[in-house]
Amino acid sequence: MKYDLTGMKFNRLTVIKEHGRNYKDSVVWECLCECGKTTFATSSDLRNGHKKSCGCLKRVSHALDLKGQRFGKLTVKKRVGTSQHRKALWRCKCDCGKMTTVSSVDLRSGNTKSCGCLGKSFAGRNLDLGGFWYENTCIKKR
Ligand SMILES: [Zn+2]
Ligand SMILES: [Zn+2]
Repeated sequence: MKYDLTGMKFNRLTVIKEHGRNYKDSVVWECLCECGKTTFATSSDLRNGHKKSCGCLKRVSHALDLKGQRFGKLTVKKRVGTSQHRKALWRCKCDCGKMTTVSSVDLRSGNTKSCGCLGKSFAGRNLDLGGFWYENTCIKKR
């Protein structure tokens, strides 16, 4: 399946045009980085968030990278932005197949463990992530 990513923005990269195909026969896109440099990335690199800049972004990683980690029924797929509370938002896939967007705080606290299909039971097994977050979540919720 082919996606036209022209004009779409992935982190610091804006897709300018299709450049060609790489040795794996994946579409390679010419992208303009916010810093002004041009770089090339495949569709999957862009869509999975593997490629977020021309390379200038590497040193900026203040946000915890939760990609690939599992929280309850959720597997973190990619960073999708920042909430209005300045928390990192992650696109997660639930075991039931649904996609959902969760903040890093909700993931790490165990507040959100599924797309919603799991119900709202709190199993006390997230204390290893820090008692503070866990308690904080419980107090807010009840
Ligand atoms: Zn750059
Ligand atoms: Zn689910």
